[in-house]
Amino acid sequence: MRGKKNGFMDNRTFTMIKPDAFAKGYSGAIIDKIIQAGFKIVALKMTKLSAEKAGEFYAIHKARPFFQELVDFMSSGPIVAAILEKDNAVADFRTLIGATDPAKAAEGTIRKLYAASVGENAIHGSDSDDNEKIESDFFFSVLERF
Ligand code: ATP
Ligand code: MG
Repeated sequence: MRGKKNGFMDNRTFTMIKPDAFAKGYSGAIIDKIIQAGFKIVALKMTKLSAEKAGEFYAIHKARPFFQELVDFMSSGPIVAAILEKDNAVADFRTLIGATDPAKAAEGTIRKLYAASVGENAIHGSDSDDNEKIESDFFFSVLERF
């Protein structure tokens, strides 16, 4: 059981290398950057989302005008999914990936380096500890976590 008391509440985040970055061959460079930034890989897999699964993952954005575009993009090709561990993982990882729109992302961030546009922005990072758990459970069984 995870809880704040034992320090585990905020030490994990979930990420996906999105179809654009995967197709361009950036997965290795991105994983290396994540490791160099101090994140430990707890789980890792290559997979592909169906349109239905992509819609489920991003259900919170259902009412947004870009929802269909997002679902089409996220189901357009293979992705790499991972659970990462580090103190303050969610916030530190959001800093590492940079702003949603790569044009606004800070120098050296993953989106600045590898993303093409606000829609095709190379990588996902959980936005809260609660969503980390939901997203990690969406992709990984307990037998796939180390
Ligand atoms: P993610 O959840 O993928 O880590 P984020 O938290 O930075 O990204 P969200 O607001 O959660 O950004 O948006 C989810 C995803 O929806 C974005 O990463 C992007 O792929 C897509 N998206 C967001 N805004 C737009 C937009 N204006 N036009 C097209 N796609 C968008
Ligand atoms: Mg988000």
